[in-house]
Amino acid sequence: MTSTKKSVSYIYDADISDYHFGPGHPMKPHRLAVTHSLVFSYPQLHNKMKVYRANKAKANDMVKYHCEEYVNFLETVTPYNMLSFTKPKDREHFGVGADCPVFDGIFDFCASYTGASLQAAHLLNQESCEIAVNWSGGLHHAKRLEASGFCYINDIVLSITELLKHFDRVLYIDIDVHHGDGVEEAFYQTDRVMTVSFHKYGDNFFPGTGDIVDIGDEAGKYYSINVPLKDGIDDAAYEAVFNKVIKSVVEVYQPSAIVLQCGADSLADDRLGCFNLSVAGHAKCVEFVRQLNIPLLILGGGGYTVRNVARCWAVETGVCVGEELVGKIPDGPYSEYFLPDYGFHPKNVSPKENGNTREYLESVVENVLELLKQAAHAPSVQMQDVPADVFSEESDDEDMDPDVRNSDVEKEKRVAHEAEFYDVQASK
Ligand SMILES: [Zn+2]
Repeated sequence: MTSTKKSVSYIYDADISDYHFGPGHPMKPHRLAVTHSLVFSYPQLHNKMKVYRANKAKANDMVKYHCEEYVNFLETVTPYNMLSFTKPKDREHFGVGADCPVFDGIFDFCASYTGASLQAAHLLNQESCEIAVNWSGGLHHAKRLEASGFCYINDIVLSITELLKHFDRVLYIDIDVHHGDGVEEAFYQTDRVMTVSFHKYGDNFFPGTGDIVDIGDEAGKYYSINVPLKDGIDDAAYEAVFNKVIKSVVEVYQPSAIVLQCGADSLADDRLGCFNLSVAGHAKCVEFVRQLNIPLLILGGGGYTVRNVARCWAVETGVCVGEELVGKIPDGPYSEYFLPDYGFHPKNVSPKENGNTREYLESVVENVLELLKQAAHAPSVQMQDVPADVFSEESDDEDMDPDVRNSDVEKEKRVAHEAEFYDVQASK
C-alpha cells in the first residue's frame, strides 16, 4: 500500500441505516451502521478524514435525471396508500414491487443517499478533497422512470452530472457483481462519461445486460465498456483483468475525475453474488484507482452479507487514507458479527467453481483493448457556461461545517444537463 497522503472526505447520514426494505429482503441499510461503526472504531481512519453529515437531496435535485412523475410518486407513495395510485401507462407502478418495495420513509431514504453523493461530488468540484467517500450511495440500477434491483434514485448518474460541471471527462468504474446498467444507459450516447463495468454475465443473472458487444452509441460509441465474467472469479484473475483494462482506459480516455462504485456483492460468500473475491482482492481495485492520482468519488452499492460488506468498506476506507487495518476488530456494538476470529479477512466458506478460463479472460481483455483503439484519445468537450454548483449559492466549503447538518441549502439553481443523458424513455 502506498503511503502517499490524500485529503479524504467522508459523508454520512446516521438516519440511513434505520430504514427497512421489509422482512426477508436482502438489502439491509443496517449494513451502513455496521460499516460506520467499524470505521469510527479506528482513530487512524476518522482522524484522517473530514467527516460530513449528509444533506438530504430534494425532489428538485432528483429531476435533474429522473422523470418528475416518478419522483412525485416516490415522494407521495406509502405502504398504506400504494393501491390508490393509478398505474402509469404500460408500467407496473414505476418498477416498485417485490425487489423494490414501497417501504416507510422510501423518499427520505433516497434523499439521504442521493444527498450524500451530491455532497461528495460538490466537495470534489470545489477541490476540497482528492477523495470523497459515500458508502450509502452507488445505486446503479435505478432508471430514469423506474426503480430496479433495489435501487430507486440513481445517485451515481446525478453525482456524475454534478462532476461534469467542473470536470471534462468522468470515468465510471463499477466492481459490483451486477452490471451497472442504469449508469451505462444514462450516458450511453455521450463521450463525456466513460462507463466500465466488471460483472457476472450469463445464466440469466440480473439484470441480464452488459454484454461485451454493448459499447455505446452515437457520440458515446466506444465509451461504454463491459467486462462480462463468469462465476467464481478469484483475486488473481480479477486483479489481472481489472488492472489491464483500467490502465488502458485511463491512458486512452484521460479522465479528469473518476467515480468508483464498490459494490461488495462481488465478494466471496455474498448472499446474492457468485464470485470468489476476498476483501483484500476487492480492496486492491480501490488501491489501483487511488494511485492514479485523479479526483475520486468512492461509492458503495450492492453487498448482502452484512458482516463482509462492513469489513470490505472499512478496509477500503483505510485504503483511501493510506492506512492498512490489521489485527482483530476492536470491541464495539457489532463485535459478534465478526466471529469467530474478529478478523478483516474471513475464510471463503463456500467457494464457487471458477468458470473463467485463462483463455476466456484473455479474449475478454483483448476484445476491450481492441475497442479502446477505436475510441478517440481524451475526447475534448465544448464546455458551455458552467452552471452554479449544487451548494455554492448558500455555502462554500469553508462554511460547510463538518458534521453539522446544513438543512436549508438552496439547490434550486442547479441546471440540468439534459444533453448528457441517453433519454431512453423519450419516446414513451
Ligand atoms: Zn449488485
